[in-house]
Amino acid sequence: MTINQNKGASLSTKAVWSGEKEYRVHGASQVPVVHSVAFTYDDLDHWYDVAVGREKGHIYGRNTNPTVESFEQKIKILEDAEAATSFSTGMAAISNSLATFLRPGSRVVSCKDTYGGTNKIFSEFLPQLDIDVKLCETGNHGQIEEEVRKGCDILYLETPTNPTVKITDLERMVKVAKEVGALVFVDNTFATPILQNPLEYGVDLVIHSATKYLGGHADALGGAVCGSKELVEKIYHYREINGATMDPMAAYLILRGMKTLHLRMNQQCKSAMKIAEYLKNHEQVDQVFYPGLEDHPGHDIAKKQMRQFGGMLSFSVKGGMDAVKQFLPKLEFANRAANLGAVETTVGPARTTSHIENTPEERAALGIPESLVRYSVGIEDTDDLIQDLENAFASLKKAEAAKR
Ligand SMILES: *Cc1c(COP(=O)(O)O)cnc(C)c1O
Repeated sequence: MTINQNKGASLSTKAVWSGEKEYRVHGASQVPVVHSVAFTYDDLDHWYDVAVGREKGHIYGRNTNPTVESFEQKIKILEDAEAATSFSTGMAAISNSLATFLRPGSRVVSCKDTYGGTNKIFSEFLPQLDIDVKLCETGNHGQIEEEVRKGCDILYLETPTNPTVKITDLERMVKVAKEVGALVFVDNTFATPILQNPLEYGVDLVIHSATKYLGGHADALGGAVCGSKELVEKIYHYREINGATMDPMAAYLILRGMKTLHLRMNQQCKSAMKIAEYLKNHEQVDQVFYPGLEDHPGHDIAKKQMRQFGGMLSFSVKGGMDAVKQFLPKLEFANRAANLGAVETTVGPARTTSHIENTPEERAALGIPESLVRYSVGIEDTDDLIQDLENAFASLKKAEAAKR
């Protein structure tokens, strides 16, 4: 077998090596951060050829940059895509990709539990542009099929979702989208290319918030889109003009983070499974949402389309929001923050993080209990995390007993 950085090699090897070689200069073993707004040319003919895309090179930082391009190459290879482009944030990746293809009168079909910002695009901004958006019950495949068949330009999916970790069957959804010629977008932020490659199922575009697992260290914002050359070039053109460009320093930090993506995901998935089982048997917990649990409604689909079940889980604490207010501050090994996918465990109530934009009634309709805690498992020792949860539950119990 021949292996190289783009084919044959396994994902862990690609995460380390892919996309970097041609960007290392002066014999550096690492991709340098190129902090330069513009690139100079003494030969005007050469400048012209690069500017019109006839030759490779860089002109101006809003369009391309070598460090940023290296990041694009790595995510492209990990998703096994023909092309990739990058953005200042995950939301820029989502909004620019939608704006590239939607026109007044277009119709989008999606689900209710997409990321909070995505949901706002669907409920607030697209309708202002005379774009019709239908949001289906997440995981109700029959309803999505019905709505797509009524007419659809973009079927926009996210799997697994925030915060109850619902799963949508990609193979089945691609089939119905093809019937009506709709493009299928999938936000793959939670799974990462290590666990799931939506393009394999015929999905047209894969979107990432690189801010989360790809970077993995909660210190850089970024986004990416992967797909066919034809579609990605159109999105790139929209972005180069509209300007939601990734910063070279962010590209460097995310590129560095991605080298350990495979290791991190393995540890996070392993811990998440054990923590979900621990919580499921806990007397102070009402419900646990994790697709690795056999009674999770998306378990079988997750098993089919994901290599592991991911590092995100959520659970509702008995005693409602008052209990959550007691419980969360007691966790020693967790940042209480509106983030996820970092090396540190990160927690927050769904009502303050992913679904702050919704009213309590809307959250109830989405099946999100007010006492739901989103738990993004970090790379800490599994037993330490379980002990930390155990200590916080014990202290909650004490506080509740003292009140009586
Ligand atoms: C965070 C997140 C986004 C948005 O990414 P930003 O980098 O914060 O703009 C989009 N989708 C999902 C699933 C996310 O978790």
